[in-house]
Amino acid sequence: IITVRNLSKYFDDFEALRDITLDVKRSEVLCLIGPSGSGKSTLLRCLNFLEQYDGGEVHLDGELIGWQDISHNPRKPLSGEALRKQRQHIGMVFQHFHLWPHMSALDNVAEALTSVKKLSKKKAKEAAMAALTKVHLEDKAENYPANLSGGQQQRVAIARAIAMEPQVMLFDEPTSALDPELVGEVLSVMKDLAAEGMTMVVVTHEMGFAAHVADRVAFLDSGRLVTCVPPEEMFGREPDDARVRSFLQTYR
Ligand code: ATP
Ligand code: MG
Repeated sequence: IITVRNLSKYFDDFEALRDITLDVKRSEVLCLIGPSGSGKSTLLRCLNFLEQYDGGEVHLDGELIGWQDISHNPRKPLSGEALRKQRQHIGMVFQHFHLWPHMSALDNVAEALTSVKKLSKKKAKEAAMAALTKVHLEDKAENYPANLSGGQQQRVAIARAIAMEPQVMLFDEPTSALDPELVGEVLSVMKDLAAEGMTMVVVTHEMGFAAHVADRVAFLDSGRLVTCVPPEEMFGREPDDARVRSFLQTYR
């Protein structure tokens, strides 16, 4: 459902991503791992064009993401409106939850349903409640973010994304800002989503999640895709590649 072809990205002279080629199949869970600064967030952000990439292409369900016309040189980015349309199909959850502090959990989830999806207030609230129920927060719908734990806030952020019925969900270290005892509840919601068949790309340092939930695990190093293999291969035996070996050692 996602195809990445020869993707490259520079920050000025710095090559953040080099020639990344990768496919994510429908209903697949792909975990991205690798050292700090290896380009995991940048790659994820290129998938929904939060970062404008320099070379290569990203397609979602056959549709080129971010650019008006690939044959045009230099190529032109899509207008804001067209880009917003594409992004509706891509849910994203960040390390920090980015909830509106002045809105209840329910209104946080309902907001984009009225403003972007143009649902009526009533329909939006119903859909928001259904999404909150999925993340087991139906009884916290009226709470403001300040009155929710970090784990609950992150689950609201997940509900907000899934309420839009995206084709894929992108997660950038969704549990790394959480106290350790709150990590499990968020991973468990993500596991349920995966089991329902959601297509997911997850940047994570949770190797247990990657080992048990991912269909494939991709390892990035210095902007390059070193390997992308099933978790048994990544974690099951001594990795061939020295970079992967030394990275995984820090988790043992
Ligand atoms: P971490 O595990 O620490 O989150 P990461 O793998 O997500 O790391 P990225 O955030 O993708 O790494 O960054 C990749 C490289 O690109 C880093 O060297 C970073 O300094 C650089 N970089 C990222 N964003 C920018 C930016 N806006 N301007 C300049 N350089 C950037
Ligand atoms: Mg990152």
